[in-house]
Amino acid sequence: MLIDNHGRPITYLRLAVTDKCNLRCFYCMPEEGLDWLSRAELMSYEEMLHVCRVMVNMGIEKIRITGGEPFVRKDIMQLLTAIAGLDGLKELSLTTNGVLTAPYVPELKKIGIRSVNLSLDTLDANRFFTITRRDEFANVIAAMEAMLHHDMEVKINAVVMDGKNTQDILPLVELTKDLPVSVRFIEEMPFNGDGHVYDGLHWDYVRILDEIKTKYPQIKKLDDPANSTAYNYQIPGHKGSVGIIAAYSRTFCGTCNRIRITPQGQLKTCLYDDGILNVRDLLREGIEDDRLRNILQEAFKHRPKDGWEAERTRAAQTGIHESMATIGG
Ligand code: SAM
Repeated sequence: MLIDNHGRPITYLRLAVTDKCNLRCFYCMPEEGLDWLSRAELMSYEEMLHVCRVMVNMGIEKIRITGGEPFVRKDIMQLLTAIAGLDGLKELSLTTNGVLTAPYVPELKKIGIRSVNLSLDTLDANRFFTITRRDEFANVIAAMEAMLHHDMEVKINAVVMDGKNTQDILPLVELTKDLPVSVRFIEEMPFNGDGHVYDGLHWDYVRILDEIKTKYPQIKKLDDPANSTAYNYQIPGHKGSVGIIAAYSRTFCGTCNRIRITPQGQLKTCLYDDGILNVRDLLREGIEDDRLRNILQEAFKHRPKDGWEAERTRAAQTGIHESMATIGG
């Protein structure tokens, strides 16, 4: 098993397969999009599969495919199918905005994907348009329905933004009444892609919970699974559950088991770090697997204690100008 310098097992890789997205969520990237990576800058599927194979051999048990939006990358099912077939991998899952996802659901199920994170910040079609700058609400709902129809576990991720969608908190909780979905509220993070100064967090996990309690004072705390980033709750009688992810407050770093690879191959051992080495470059230099393993092992021995330490280190160098789309949210 891989253990980092703070005694934390590393078992979970989040692989971002593209920086491109078909939505323009205002908190993630500017309206005109990002300065997209060229094809040569992106890791090829072969390179992604290679690094996944090495990491699974080293002890990674779970891989989540993310982006950008995974389904805007051509032939994504080819990569998903190949990763799903890796010996030793216990779980493959993905994070999607749902715009193009519904038609893929039967195939996702077939290759063994049991759980999908679906990003949805509002249940109001007009607000959806304001937040994402795209008229795609109906497709996202269709994706959710297709996943439920195929008995997939659906986790709905909603970023809570002051003045934008806080009126959606209670309706999203209400969704758990009849649907077996887990609705997870996420604190907004300073990864907006244009480097504009983030003026602090207005809705932290405590305030989000307080808001939910105004309508559901009977809300009950559930046991959180090991390495959970969410504080989990349930309204008695509801089919689904509610989670709150303190992504800005960073209360979960002590049990963090995850690492990330960006679409251009940067390895991040913390969401808030700046990328510590480039696996794409190493593969293109023809590195042997044994040597790659050693380099990765060494990197895992230098993980920051928490996201505060990582942010301090990078702020001293560059500050945060990244979008979640280039990190792999
Ligand atoms: N396109 C896919 C999706 O929408 O789920 C995967 C990538 S997206 C960057 C992953 C998640 O990051 C989404 O749930 C999105 O809302 C979240 N995200 C993006 N920017 C964020 C920010 N500044 N703070 C918190 N969450 C953010």
